[in-house]
Amino acid sequence: MSDTIVKTTDLSVAFKVKKDLVPAVRQVSLSLEKGRTLVILGESGSGKSTYMKALLRILPHDAAIDGAAEFMGEDLLLKNEKEMRELRGDRISMIYQDSLSALDPMYKVGDQVIETIRAHRKSVSRAEAREQAEQLFVKVGIPSPRERMRTYPHELSGGMRQRAVIAMSLCCSPYLLLADEPTTALDVTIQKQILNLFLELQEKDGMSIMMVTHDIGVAAQVADEIAIMYGGIIMEYGSTREVLEEPANPYTRALIAALPKSGDRGRLVAIDGQPPTIVSMPSGCPFSDRCAYATQICKSSIPHLTPVTQTHQTACHLYERKEE
Ligand code: SF4
Repeated sequence: MSDTIVKTTDLSVAFKVKKDLVPAVRQVSLSLEKGRTLVILGESGSGKSTYMKALLRILPHDAAIDGAAEFMGEDLLLKNEKEMRELRGDRISMIYQDSLSALDPMYKVGDQVIETIRAHRKSVSRAEAREQAEQLFVKVGIPSPRERMRTYPHELSGGMRQRAVIAMSLCCSPYLLLADEPTTALDVTIQKQILNLFLELQEKDGMSIMMVTHDIGVAAQVADEIAIMYGGIIMEYGSTREVLEEPANPYTRALIAALPKSGDRGRLVAIDGQPPTIVSMPSGCPFSDRCAYATQICKSSIPHLTPVTQTHQTACHLYERKEE
């Protein structure tokens, strides 16, 4: 069996705005192998969360999805809603930024994990599910798990709540964990602990992780591969080392230049201008209004991913010309 867990080919998503279909994700081709972590890095509005939601098929009904999306060789876009429900929370799990909204404030966290286990594994008794929930709490590093299971979400700190959400997401031993800004709401120390927890769990269970974030530091800490997204397209894609240390795309270089260096006292070199929205997208390269290297072709034609090395691609007309 192939080790490819997720593969999308030219996956596009468009939303209806008034009478028009407006593209939010454009021809995204990415893949994720077993036991690896792919981070999709981009500013807000870049299309990264929409791409992930398209995989889970949890977009609004009027969203038009085109292209191909496979999970372990199965075509996700051909599945009906019942088949997708069976996948979600079972072989595929998802973690969101806001752990409070992922948990029901009216129920104790332990009961929520127990019910999630029983919803997916009908033959498991409540006592067995309680046992499994307690083991999951231990696995995600929640101290005094028995007592914590009896608490309500608001009684836990943000870090402990996110651990409880991760425990819930692991209850069916997923092959794929989708994480949407899972540490954004946490302070830096807790963020580091949660990211390390992802890596430990991945090493133990061999699951694959796809994470979206706007934070380069988060990507650098966990990613095997990084895809840089902007204006609905992938601008750069490759191994973490190549993308962060040898960026080929002007947008990636500008993002990295905007990071504070030691001695800068936190000053950012902001990228001039604002990212486009889906209704103000330039017709060519989405970065063309802000790019110092833009030429005429950048204004009229969308660049496509071109190999830089065997494990690194960039979408930029500067590179397409070098290839000719
Ligand atoms: Fe800049 Fe043109 Fe490359 Fe886009 S295609 S990143 S506008 S040089």
